[in-house]
Amino acid sequence: MSIKIENLTYIYNPKSPFETKALDNVNIEIKPGEFIGLIGHTGSGKSTLTQHLNGLIKPTSGRIIINGLDITNSSVKLVEVRKKVGLVFQYPEHQLFEETVYKDIAFGPLNQGLKEEEVEQRIKEAMEAVKLSYEDLKDRSPFELSGGQRRRVAIAGVLAMKPEVLILDEPTAGLDPRSRDEILEEIKMLHERYKITIILVSHSMEDIAKLVDRIIVMHRGHVRLMGEAREIFKQSEVLESIGLGIPQITHLLNQLKQKGIVLRDDIFTVEEAKEEILKWMRGEKNA
Ligand code: ADP
Ligand code: MG
Repeated sequence: MSIKIENLTYIYNPKSPFETKALDNVNIEIKPGEFIGLIGHTGSGKSTLTQHLNGLIKPTSGRIIINGLDITNSSVKLVEVRKKVGLVFQYPEHQLFEETVYKDIAFGPLNQGLKEEEVEQRIKEAMEAVKLSYEDLKDRSPFELSGGQRRRVAIAGVLAMKPEVLILDEPTAGLDPRSRDEILEEIKMLHERYKITIILVSHSMEDIAKLVDRIIVMHRGHVRLMGEAREIFKQSEVLESIGLGIPQITHLLNQLKQKGIVLRDDIFTVEEAKEEILKWMRGEKNA
């Protein structure tokens, strides 16, 4: 599904002492099947932006066009939009409420009016995608599970609706490094297997750098940078000026450059950096 965000502005509590302009004339186009990393400091407008994409928030001004359909138009049925655009909130496990994992994941598909058989199939598939054992966990209470498992149950609940666009708002927030890496790996698999459009919100460059096709950097309600990861990391000064780190490995290469060892400045994986440094050591680079 294609997504077009046109001149989007959003103001919380307008005309009150608490008025906050959370988004200021944002323009973004996302192609079907793209994997987007949306990054920015706390308060930069990421969550407000994502909540516009399934109609949870209506723009103060501007339009959201999904597959050619302007979803800000009042005649559009948001139920239909939400079938296609799945939003996993930050800390989604706080919204688990059923007595079993099965029932929790079934909630969305049942609401879509699917038959029990189809629902069961979807639950199995969704649990498999996030590496949860259906047989072992379906009858357990979500509240007995570990933090990482609860997070996965919540993600599976959105996957079970088979969205064509999947938005994950800080899906690794608060998890230990191992669960974080596993969940990122599962998200990558989802993109490869189902070719859906994914918008991954994060405030960690390390998390998204190695996964996404394109990065959108938000700052104070504006899009500050937008492009392929390589292009974005070349702008390390801009990133640092708005309080976003670059991946440590990019930082290392910048440090080498200051010492007169000029290697490529668009590297953000350890693997690539290793190659580049080895080349330099073998004298294949005239640094
Ligand atoms: P991010 O997800 O990048 O941290 P948010 O979209 O949550 O950013 O917030 C953008 C701005 O809007 C911030 O200044 C924040 O304080 C404000 N904001 C967010 N949610 C609300 C709300 N429900 N009411 C009032 N202001 C809000
Ligand atoms: Mg947020």
